[in-house]
Amino acid sequence: MEGAALLERLTAGATALGQRSGEIGGAGPERLIWRAATIRDVRPETPSAKTLLLGVPGWRGHLAGQHVDIRLTADDGYQAERSYSIASAPEAGQVELTIERIDDGEVSPYLTLDAMRGDMFELRGPIGGYFTWDARHRQPLLLVGGGSGLVPLMAMLRHHRAVRSRTEARLLLSARTQADILYRDELEALESDEVAVHITLTRGAPPPGWSGWSRRIDRAMFEEIAPAPEEQPSIYVCGPTAFVEEAARLLVELGHEPATIRTERFGPSGG
Ligand SMILES: Cc1cc2nc3c(=O)[nH]c(=O)nc-3n(C[C@H](O)[C@H](O)[C@H](O)COP(=O)(O)OP(=O)(O)OC[C@H]3O[C@@H](n4cnc5c(N)ncnc54)[C@H](O)[C@@H]3O)c2cc1C
Repeated sequence: MEGAALLERLTAGATALGQRSGEIGGAGPERLIWRAATIRDVRPETPSAKTLLLGVPGWRGHLAGQHVDIRLTADDGYQAERSYSIASAPEAGQVELTIERIDDGEVSPYLTLDAMRGDMFELRGPIGGYFTWDARHRQPLLLVGGGSGLVPLMAMLRHHRAVRSRTEARLLLSARTQADILYRDELEALESDEVAVHITLTRGAPPPGWSGWSRRIDRAMFEEIAPAPEEQPSIYVCGPTAFVEEAARLLVELGHEPATIRTERFGPSGG
């Protein structure tokens, strides 16, 4: 199906969902029930990414790093499902999703270009227990994100800030250009004795005055910023599959135990 036609179907479906939200629910573990989520607000993040602030009646909270599945239904019954990480800290008490547009994608263009305050779709979750971080974990934290792979890591950093954690946290973020850096102002504000933010830009010449790196992630970066393997850091890597595999390979090469490296791949998730 052509993108424009699908967008029309999904837009119509979101409205239809609003009219029949009373039907949502069902048997099974509570976190796997489809719930009606309403977009309360939309926050632009970059030219290609937006954050949707959602109202989800019955939401019982989440852990930093978890994700949700969302389901869009068109008038004719066509459905599309995708996974999105929760960007907000558990302490925020609400679900925020940051979606980066993939131009030839089916769902992300709808969520970033068409979806607006008041629109509804179905959501289930929170999902995932492996790729989560709790501030009670005291080992140094190393977060490695590629593009929108920053989203669940941001939930961890927001959690870190919300509970005033003294755990040492380091972020290595790979973004295409400076304009593509998600949560840029917030990342700057997070820099502190406990949190170090390192960014590398991978496309084109870096902007004048850029003090970060401008190349793909490599061994030298990890040698410079990663805690030593003996410190047994908790490591979280998230992003496109190739990025995740390369980061994990480099970390193992540097002596980190594979079991200490948690990975999440943002490959295609539709069925
Ligand atoms: C656990 C999990 C959490 C995720 N969290 C987020 C999140 O927080 N924010 C976010 O923006 N995305 C996230 N994703 C990716 C998201 O689920 C979708 O895959 C993405 O939005 C693309 O959907 P689409 O329908 O627009 O593209 P599709 O119609 O599914 O695909 C269109 C084209 O893009 C390619 N493609 C699909 N997904 C990606 C991708 N992620 N990167 C590069 N190319 C891709 C496909 O191979 C295809 O060629 C997550 C994925 C998983 C599995």
